[in-house]
Amino acid sequence: MIVMKFGGTSVADCAAITRTIGIVESKLQQRPIVVVSALSKVTDLLYKISDKAREKDNEGAADLLRQLRERHLNLAAELIPDNAEILADACARVNRLCDNLEYFVNAVCALGELSDRSKAVIIGNGEYLSSSIICCAMNARGIRTRLMDSRKMIITDNNFLKGEPQTEEIVKNVSREVAEAYTQDMDAVITQGFVSATAEGEPTVLGRGGSDYTASLIGMSVDAEVIEIWTDVDGVKTADPRKVENTLSLDRISFEEAAEMAHFGAKVLHPMTIEPAVKKNIPIYVLNSMNPSGKGTAILQSSFIEDGVKSVSSKSNILVINIFSTKMINVAGFLMHVFEIFSRNNVSVDLISTSEATISVTVDAGSQNIEKVVEELSTFAEVVVDSNKAQVSVIGKNLDNVNGLLEKTFAPLKDYKIYMISQGSSYINISFVVDRESLDNIVSLIHRNIFG
Ligand code: ADP
Ligand code: ASP
Ligand code: MG
Repeated sequence: MIVMKFGGTSVADCAAITRTIGIVESKLQQRPIVVVSALSKVTDLLYKISDKAREKDNEGAADLLRQLRERHLNLAAELIPDNAEILADACARVNRLCDNLEYFVNAVCALGELSDRSKAVIIGNGEYLSSSIICCAMNARGIRTRLMDSRKMIITDNNFLKGEPQTEEIVKNVSREVAEAYTQDMDAVITQGFVSATAEGEPTVLGRGGSDYTASLIGMSVDAEVIEIWTDVDGVKTADPRKVENTLSLDRISFEEAAEMAHFGAKVLHPMTIEPAVKKNIPIYVLNSMNPSGKGTAILQSSFIEDGVKSVSSKSNILVINIFSTKMINVAGFLMHVFEIFSRNNVSVDLISTSEATISVTVDAGSQNIEKVVEELSTFAEVVVDSNKAQVSVIGKNLDNVNGLLEKTFAPLKDYKIYMISQGSSYINISFVVDRESLDNIVSLIHRNIFG
């Protein structure tokens, strides 16, 4: 079996979905489990709908809900032009999902209170809409396909907007659901990325970009031959092609390099995608649905990968938290006290640097509970949060073997300020902090100096 995940741009409209179905059709021999995202921009629209509901803006919500319904009904009509019965089924599914959502949004509007649980219900609808339509379109094309419900498979804790997957439950559920759905008379099965549920059946989601994670959790559960992540670029590149000119596509990188890149800002993969695949040593291919014959990037075990720099990644959505305390000087256990506060509040720290009386850390600006962390730290230290910085990471295998890398990285930056340099002891990344306004220039300069 193989898992094939198609992101938002790969299912954006009739032309993209037709291409996507063609790609799946070419791999039926390998028994695909297809995982789809919401149509491009639909999850953003659902976030806006949830905002309107919280603001009790009935009319605003109704207007956006109308757009949502229309876009999907029009798409169904375009995709399934010559099978009236299947088209009617697709439209009925869209209408049922949209009716339920409308009912739910009205209830939230009436209350004017949006819990994380309610938000998870609303934002998960994009994947149900896309998977229902695509399943119908595949059947209309003669590919016998059955729709599976991710919420019966991907079980998480009750962190509704960024659920933590419960691996044992997931393996059990995915195996059962796939065995039930993938009968001999089926050519393919399809399910939703991103959405999940607690063991009690309460809806959750895996966090933005979470469909990649769904694909690798399913791949791990069925011991897939490969996990394919189909997106809108020719594989993993040496930097974000939207921000840097002349990026190169990478033929192959290691699981560790990919995880590091995703964690340090390369949006092409959700940061947790690699972990489940590594457990079963399943190769991941990142491929371009707009250029299906391209090689893409293979993400493999480290022994197949050569040493050297693979990418310059960056993260602009960070906060630097500076913690000053004279009490820190010569007091054993101070660091433990500080990090215990981060850990208890579930805020994960990216970079750390310390001096005699200061600890500086970077955290993802989207982390929950940052205010609580700052409040607790402030009871015994002076805390300053800096939101004007960004983080750059040069990532690759055995960077200690790369001659002159520090010079190549920092020489072009003589006119810029650099803060908090850190080189992990595993030599897989060199990271540092810069002023956010200089970020794009800096990444381009380093990229040019390293990759030409
Ligand atoms: P999808 O909707 O298919 O999940 P995403 O938008 O989440 O697609 O991810 C693909 C995008 O990731 C690309 O269009 C590209 O702009 C961005 N990206 C960031 N860093 C990289 C990188 N190192 N290599 C490739 N793409 C990257
Ligand atoms: N649709 C979700 C999002 O936009 C998940 C995904 O695309 O991976 O975040
Ligand atoms: Mg994505």
